[in-house]
Amino acid sequence: MRQIEKDPDFVDISTFPHVLIDLRYAGINNFMKTDLYGPIYGSKPKVFLHKDAASKLLKAVNLLQKIKPGWSFLVFDALRPRSVQWKMWEKVKDTPQRKYVANPAIGSPHNYGMAIDIGLTDGQHGELDMGTGFDSFAPIAEPRLEQKFLKMGKLTRRQVANRLLLRKVMTQAGFLPISHEWWHFNALPEPEIRKKYRIVE
Ligand SMILES: [Zn+2]
Repeated sequence: MRQIEKDPDFVDISTFPHVLIDLRYAGINNFMKTDLYGPIYGSKPKVFLHKDAASKLLKAVNLLQKIKPGWSFLVFDALRPRSVQWKMWEKVKDTPQRKYVANPAIGSPHNYGMAIDIGLTDGQHGELDMGTGFDSFAPIAEPRLEQKFLKMGKLTRRQVANRLLLRKVMTQAGFLPISHEWWHFNALPEPEIRKKYRIVE
């Protein structure tokens, strides 16, 4: 991470206004119950995105303030160096969770600093209820199934509205949602990321 701190292509988004950080792999509150980042992040983590993704996040911050003054984003993960992706892969490769983790040989958009895992807080009650937490691999976490779960009464109107608000501000700022994780957004289509950007090892 030291090189990244000096690299002008990467921006520490933990300094942005209305962006709170809850880096879930820098602790044990994650689906692997393992601190994957360890000492490279320290007690006050810096959280990086490529500058092309960071400028979109700033746009999203401004849009959110217009719609919901005082609300903040909550960032669960952003740039994830490939060395961390390998640790994650080693943990899951022989388990059913394997399908949720990108093979480091190919790389995840997170490894480029071009993806972010993000939720919302309303400034009063804390994290907004999205029906599941970050990194829930239950089908109910999948945006493509949320209308079905709404009809079944397993997601509430409020939970779906919270997800729609997050998607609205993120997509208006230029991010792309994915169909199976409500918290994950790419800054560009994946093939474009792989063509134009480089993996952070
Ligand atoms: Zn993600």
